[in-house]
Amino acid sequence: MNGLMMQQPLLVTSLLTHAERHHAEQEIVSRRVEGDIHRYRYRDLAQRSRKLANALAGLGVMHGERVATLAWNGYRHMELYFAVSGSGAVLHTLNPRLHVDQLAYIIDHAEDRVVFFDLTFLPLIESVASRISSPKVFVAMTDRANMPEAHGLPVTLLCYEDLIDGHSDQFAWPLLDENEASSLCYTSGTTGNPKGVLYSHRSTVLHTYAAALPDSLNCSARDVILPVVPMFHVNAWGLPYIACMVGAKLVFPGPALDGKSLYELIESEQVTLSAGVPTVWQGLLRHAGERGATFSSMRRTIVGGAPCPTAMTTEFQERYEVDVLHAWGMTELSPVGTVCSFKAQHLTWPTQQRYALQAKQGRAVFGIDMRIVDVDGKELPWGTHEAGDLQVRGPWVASGYFGGEEASPLCDGWFPTGDVAKIDSDGFMQITDRSKDVIKSGGEWISSIDIENVACLHPQVASAVCIAARHPKWDERPLLLVVRKPEATLRCEELLDFFDGRVAKWWKPDAVVFIDAVPLGATGKVLKNRLRDQYRDYYLTV
Ligand code: ADP
Repeated sequence: MNGLMMQQPLLVTSLLTHAERHHAEQEIVSRRVEGDIHRYRYRDLAQRSRKLANALAGLGVMHGERVATLAWNGYRHMELYFAVSGSGAVLHTLNPRLHVDQLAYIIDHAEDRVVFFDLTFLPLIESVASRISSPKVFVAMTDRANMPEAHGLPVTLLCYEDLIDGHSDQFAWPLLDENEASSLCYTSGTTGNPKGVLYSHRSTVLHTYAAALPDSLNCSARDVILPVVPMFHVNAWGLPYIACMVGAKLVFPGPALDGKSLYELIESEQVTLSAGVPTVWQGLLRHAGERGATFSSMRRTIVGGAPCPTAMTTEFQERYEVDVLHAWGMTELSPVGTVCSFKAQHLTWPTQQRYALQAKQGRAVFGIDMRIVDVDGKELPWGTHEAGDLQVRGPWVASGYFGGEEASPLCDGWFPTGDVAKIDSDGFMQITDRSKDVIKSGGEWISSIDIENVACLHPQVASAVCIAARHPKWDERPLLLVVRKPEATLRCEELLDFFDGRVAKWWKPDAVVFIDAVPLGATGKVLKNRLRDQYRDYYLTV
């Protein structure tokens, strides 16, 4: 039909060219691995990305080939985001917290041609290099003055700044098909082997639109955004792309993710919005709490990747006046699925009721369709107490895995998330468990997340994990593993009494075990399976 809208492919480079044209002077600040703070502007990002695209062509990287990064959040990583995807290759972000064997497996599986890495990871790269099957080109993301001696590498090591130096800053971004792959990320592998999730240009741009909205991650040109969530895992929840779309100032923390470094960066750069997993925020809150510090500019923080305990939401909001945006997502969802932002009627709710709402993972952003189903795949109604398997679909939801050797994960066109959830009548979804984490006591489900939430409310509890332990009478009973705050004197009975009146009687854990630290996986999430392996038979042996 004549007179229709233009056919313009949705491409990742359109975000960069938009930022260069409309927000050229906006700053990108990075704490570098070299130790100093680096500053430049979107104009420089665009120019250097084009130089890098020329350099990649010079290295012989072909259309559709994978280029890997093993890097912290920083400007060079951001240049790779655009140069690799924009020139038609696929950006494969590697998670440095994975075991070296898993990394080697992933690099081989993805058939990466070139691997760019931050200096921190040279020892890791040296170990990986001897385990991978085909030789790669390795590029250290630094300048000549900081180039390391690398005896452990079987191939020549290139220097990032040298690599791009001689190249022109003119490069015509190719007009790709929007359905081509732009980037690749492997699932964190807490359950089973890592699987590759392939994002397309189209899915990335659509996700960027949706995630930036006021009721989503709520980003604008007036924001100074600190993505603590790593660029090596699910594209830092899309924030580098979002920042380009809206023209926000970006602040990258590099390798320094401890409470003190983050606090200093937030204050010195006047960050307004940050994003990270709860375990990272624990460090920040501890640092701020010990010093009686306040946040002079930060007004919002996005918490996701794991449930945000109500105690954390309360502390952020009441002590620091930082609003918590609780979000849920997955690698397979690019990652944003739901965000817990209030509707008008919630603004007048009593405080405690609002905190209860904020413990939920929130409502679906436009583009994500969600439902809960029972064991037979039958859809369950919203607004009841019944929980079911959470399924989603949408233009930025994976339909399969890279390599295609796995059977399709879809059920009737829906992606099964592996999470168990309830959805209230207002459409707010609440995860009660991952399917593998649920506790089944005497045939009834108990939510481990609810129990952890209550335990975290106790002032002497630093962190808490609830697992299913085998039980001679009830099949399974909840067992609570707790890390106490320094100098806490809390005893088991005292903590168990704390549950009275806060959860149903039969949900109360039968025992508490104090542990020194919680084992964390590659993305900062609690490795529940490791704790389960260790404590599964606790009730059979006491
Ligand atoms: P990401 O780390 O980006 O969330 P992963 O694919 O590694 O992505 O993990 C996804 C899983 O993490 C989800 O299926 C869910 O179990 C858990 N998860 C993510 N966000 C939350 C949240 N806000 N509350 C509870 N669980 C969450």
